[in-house]
Amino acid sequence: MANLSPMMQQYFEIKKQNPNTILFFRLGDFYEMFYDDAKLASKELDLTLTGRDCGQEERAPMCGVPFHSYESYVARLVAKGYKVAICEQMEDPALAKGLVKRDIIRVITPGTVLESSMLDETRNNFICSLCVEGAEAGICFADISTGELHATTLCGGDLSEQLKNELSRFSPREILINQNVLEFSELPKFIKERLSASLELLDGENFEKESCTSLVLRQFQRENLESLDLSGQDNIVRALGALFSYLKQTQRTGIERINAIDLYSGAQYMHLDLNTRRNLELLETMRNKEKRGSLLWVLDKTRTAMGKRLIRSWIEQPLLSPAQISRRLNAVQELSDDPILRDSIAEQLSGIHDLERLMSRIVYGSANGRELRSLSSAAEKLPGLKNILKGVKSNLLTDIYQSIDVLDDVFRLIERSIVEEPPFSIREGGMIKPGYNEELDLLKGDMSDGRGIIAQIEAQERERTGISKLKVGYNRVFGYYIEISNGYKDQAPPEYIRKQTLTNCERFITPELKELEGKILGAHDKSVQLEFQLFDAVRKEVAAQLTRVQKTAHAVAQLDVLTSFAQVSADNHYIRPVVNLDGKLILKESRHPVVEILLDAPFVPNDVTLDQNENRVAIITGPNMAGKSTYMRQAALIVIMAQIGCFVPASYAEIGITDSIYTRVGASDDLASGQSTFMVEMSEVADIMKNATESSLLILDEIGRGTSTFDGMSIARAVLEYVADKKLLGAKTLFATHYHELTELEELVDGVKNYNIAVKKRGDDITFLRRIVRGGADDSFGIEVAKLAGVPDKIVNRAKQVLAELESGQQVTMPKKRGRRNTQVEQEEMQLSITPPNEAEVMDRLKKLDVNTLTPIECMNTLFELATLAKE
Ligand code: ATP
Repeated sequence: MANLSPMMQQYFEIKKQNPNTILFFRLGDFYEMFYDDAKLASKELDLTLTGRDCGQEERAPMCGVPFHSYESYVARLVAKGYKVAICEQMEDPALAKGLVKRDIIRVITPGTVLESSMLDETRNNFICSLCVEGAEAGICFADISTGELHATTLCGGDLSEQLKNELSRFSPREILINQNVLEFSELPKFIKERLSASLELLDGENFEKESCTSLVLRQFQRENLESLDLSGQDNIVRALGALFSYLKQTQRTGIERINAIDLYSGAQYMHLDLNTRRNLELLETMRNKEKRGSLLWVLDKTRTAMGKRLIRSWIEQPLLSPAQISRRLNAVQELSDDPILRDSIAEQLSGIHDLERLMSRIVYGSANGRELRSLSSAAEKLPGLKNILKGVKSNLLTDIYQSIDVLDDVFRLIERSIVEEPPFSIREGGMIKPGYNEELDLLKGDMSDGRGIIAQIEAQERERTGISKLKVGYNRVFGYYIEISNGYKDQAPPEYIRKQTLTNCERFITPELKELEGKILGAHDKSVQLEFQLFDAVRKEVAAQLTRVQKTAHAVAQLDVLTSFAQVSADNHYIRPVVNLDGKLILKESRHPVVEILLDAPFVPNDVTLDQNENRVAIITGPNMAGKSTYMRQAALIVIMAQIGCFVPASYAEIGITDSIYTRVGASDDLASGQSTFMVEMSEVADIMKNATESSLLILDEIGRGTSTFDGMSIARAVLEYVADKKLLGAKTLFATHYHELTELEELVDGVKNYNIAVKKRGDDITFLRRIVRGGADDSFGIEVAKLAGVPDKIVNRAKQVLAELESGQQVTMPKKRGRRNTQVEQEEMQLSITPPNEAEVMDRLKKLDVNTLTPIECMNTLFELATLAKE
């Protein structure tokens, strides 16, 4: 290394302190990467790999990105899970003596991103710190882009399962762990594969209790842990301490933005495990992971980024306190009753930028002039918004009204100081308005006076020398000069000092010009410097208002979500649910909030009757495709909607607080875990039976179908008996099954009721009525559904034969082999199969249709089905 160039020595020193990062090394207008970093980045970012002399025989592999567009490159690397260390020039290279000083200003990791171009405005970007000790875990989640910090302790039961649930609820991008976490051997895989988050194992000393305690106290400027409600919460303190030291190392600038901690406990919110959140498609669909088709998609009409983030967390955290739920419902009621109020709020919210994230960049000192202007234009909307809310009646809206600080001082300060369209850079001047600072105005005056004098000099020299084409120009290398074209150069006065000869002209300087130049450039440098200082002072003054802005941002976010709920409730004809603690779930004419929107046909509303007594368990039978899953999910979604404070799709709804919802539906895609479908199904059932309480709602769809009929049916029955038994579980349960034998439980077990989803059968055809009615179904109609789905007639007919034989207790006989010559019947069959199957079916059904016996809604449904069939 002895003969490395000084700059390369500097590079290696910095690189040594930041292993495991890709080092962006600032060199003039570029960030350069060298050696392995260069090889890696050139591959990941499609950059050309070049080389740079480094003092040794071989050139150092190098690639680079322009400094002004580095964000997009960093974003791509961070999205792939890399960490990027930004190394800046700490002094102006023009003024530096010798090697320019350089230092790391930040390490950007997936969980510490602040740049809006790298963040999704609709989602929080959490970094998690997790400290496991024995049977307890301290866990905290921070979003440094908004300043949020949540922390809790998990213990007892299956800790690994609890951790998975909690982690997937917050979906952090980066997770810091202590060594003990690795004892849950499947957790790292879960974090990488299911959450696609980066995992960082920190040394034990980062979690050391003493040092963590002092870091936590310093962060919140407290004397003792009691004042933070953290005394005795060792694992939370250790997780927090490790987080703060990591943030300090990566951010370099302070982490003042995090100034409060939300210590939550699972008891505040409805328990929704990972499976349930996925199965109910709360935030995204299971199949495509898209927002469209999810509950969020229906409910989200928010106008601000803050509202978009809050609505997600509300949907994932339904409340358990009837008082808190009513507070939200009262607000939604007031907004839904008053369309003018609602519309004016929505209109006013539309222009409010992301106060939370803007404020983070301001506090961290990374905001530029444009971001300050965005803050002021958001602040400009606040008085109007507050004014609209004047006179609101519900408690929550009144609190929101009071929490909105119109920030007029912040608005006025920015308006007075920062020009309307400031440049991107804060180091090149052009940001501060004239009239804001006298000294700056004087300097700018000097500059423009100087430029004026230069114009005068040009005129004066032209006249004195008689060279009409004489020009005064400027470039970065020579500064101001007088330019005379070759034809006149002999007429240049003797006091002109020759500076440069070009092909068709000569350039000169004069002492007078140099003196002026000094003044102008001096004034320019000073003014740029002063502008930066003024800007920084304004930014700091705004940053000092953090608490006020934060409070306002939270109020705006809540108002946005409530207005969205009210809007959706009005648009979709939702009603206000009655929420209490009596354990009942009574829904009249309820609908599935998502399916009713996606469906082209009319949605058939249905009732739900569940309670903790006579109607604890509903066994639902009915053919495939009848609508069992839709019905059960609809009940669960309505409970969630009510407990987040939204109105619900029904004509009447009474909802007894539900502490948790568990679902066991469909095939799980967890095959990657190496378990069979049936194994996954059974371990989910086991979890539900262990964790559910009598205040839970269970959605169990076809338990036992993953194994042989008798095994499956036995398991299903045992589960049913268990959940129905008040002494064992007694949870409200919707239980869909194809085992018709289970319907006899209504007679045998207290609290069990049979329901089925009605179908109408005419001849071979069935029509789905989508209505839930009391009693068990008498038939599965599996073969009819297979026919509907287009299974070839031959198979359908054979299936009927087999079924008939099975039902009469006979042995199934093989079909007779036929001779070579087709019989009349076979020829007809062949003929038929040439006709498109749908057309044949439409004709067939039309012929059999007895219009006089149909209700209008059945007519509509049948017509719709036939038309769809004919179009296919
Ligand atoms: P399987 O047993 O095969 O899973 P299922 O009985 O659970 O079937 P669903 O998947 O709930 O049936 O419903 C099938 C389709 O029926 C849905 O995709 C939806 O389009 C329609 N459907 C369900 N319920 C209703 C309803 N109440 N009104 C109108 N259409 C409905």
